[in-house]
Amino acid sequence: MLTYEQARQKVIEQVSKKKGPRAKVGISVWHALGYVLAQDVKSDRAYPPFDRSTRDGYTVRAAEAKSGAKLRNVGEIKAGDTVTELLAPGTCVQIMTGAAVPQGADAVVMIEQTRTEGDAVVFDRDAQPGQNIVPRGSEGAAGQIILSSGMHLGYAELALAAQVGAVQLQCAKKPRVAILSTGDEVVSVEKTPGPFQIRNSNSVSLAAQVRLSGGEPVLLGNAADRSDDLREKILRGLKKDILVLSGGVSMGKYDLVEIVLRELGADFYFDAVAIRPGKPAVFGRCGETFVFGLPGNPVSTMVTFELFVTAALDLLSGAEARPLSLLEARLGEALHEKPGLTHFLPARVEWKGTTPVVKPLPWQGSGDVATLAKANCFLVVPADRAEVQTGEPVSILLRKDVI
Ligand code: AMP
Ligand code: MG
Repeated sequence: MLTYEQARQKVIEQVSKKKGPRAKVGISVWHALGYVLAQDVKSDRAYPPFDRSTRDGYTVRAAEAKSGAKLRNVGEIKAGDTVTELLAPGTCVQIMTGAAVPQGADAVVMIEQTRTEGDAVVFDRDAQPGQNIVPRGSEGAAGQIILSSGMHLGYAELALAAQVGAVQLQCAKKPRVAILSTGDEVVSVEKTPGPFQIRNSNSVSLAAQVRLSGGEPVLLGNAADRSDDLREKILRGLKKDILVLSGGVSMGKYDLVEIVLRELGADFYFDAVAIRPGKPAVFGRCGETFVFGLPGNPVSTMVTFELFVTAALDLLSGAEARPLSLLEARLGEALHEKPGLTHFLPARVEWKGTTPVVKPLPWQGSGDVATLAKANCFLVVPADRAEVQTGEPVSILLRKDVI
């Protein structure tokens, strides 16, 4: 059986093989958060566009502004002022943060390091050439590529695009992810379940995870545990880039997902992973569509999505697969688990100073959504560790949606 790292690598290998141009879409910089850029963005001019003062103070010729020296203040430059005049020798000019430094000047002295005597300014210490000035072009030259195709657009990337006037961005069209739950016991969340039925919460968590990972969810509802219904709904899902199923992949008599997919010509790259929860997870391809069959217990569905589906979404968006958000923490409370499988336990990480300390939460197993909603990470217990002592370093997988 594959480890979760090997299984994730399989997803990366297989999805990376899918070549061909990705569909693009123009998105306004106001709405492009979470998209993957499908163009390079070039700087429209040098940045900063002028020698920029980073302090409120006086702009000087450094050689003249020695400790105890006096220079006559001959004016004022605010941010946004047009600056054309040369700084005359023997003078200084009051200047504000963000304003352009005049020609001839080569330093800005912070106001706190000066005092005034009439119209003269007296300096407390020697000014150094270049101090408190960001030279024109030092953040980027005109025409330089500052954002490249394949980058994820976060707030800083969007600000940079806005800075250079790229208000409309060519982005990868978000991969469309069909979501199909299965199970005779499952009813839509808008309905009142009978005494032995449950609401389709998996479709809700899956849609949220798809959105968080840069995909566009397409809801196909629920299929009964019958081949005909499954086949019909799976065929609809196969029109999308990815099909994610929940439930129906275990060893039960009514777990028919793999059988139906096989009948439809699917190839499978794995159909079990050495993890708990989530062991029966399935990954394959049917025609042009990648298919994930995730076990139906809600926490299994969530963990396996995070471990495997996220990589496919990145790659189909033209980005590299981002690494899992794993972090080292100190274990705050000793634990013992059955060895053999890598465990992902709902847990809470708190920061004592800068050191993350993690404690597993008591839970009822992979159906226990209530406990997962109190967790902000999964504690990753390696397959070969039955006992882990308090204070030992452990890996945690962050729930990026709440942390
Ligand atoms: P399965 O993987 O089909 O054996 O499902 C395992 C268990 O997960 C079921 O017995 C349900 O309790 C639960 N489950 C299955 N599908 C869903 C769903 N769509 N939403 C919430 N819970 C589900
Ligand atoms: Mg089922």
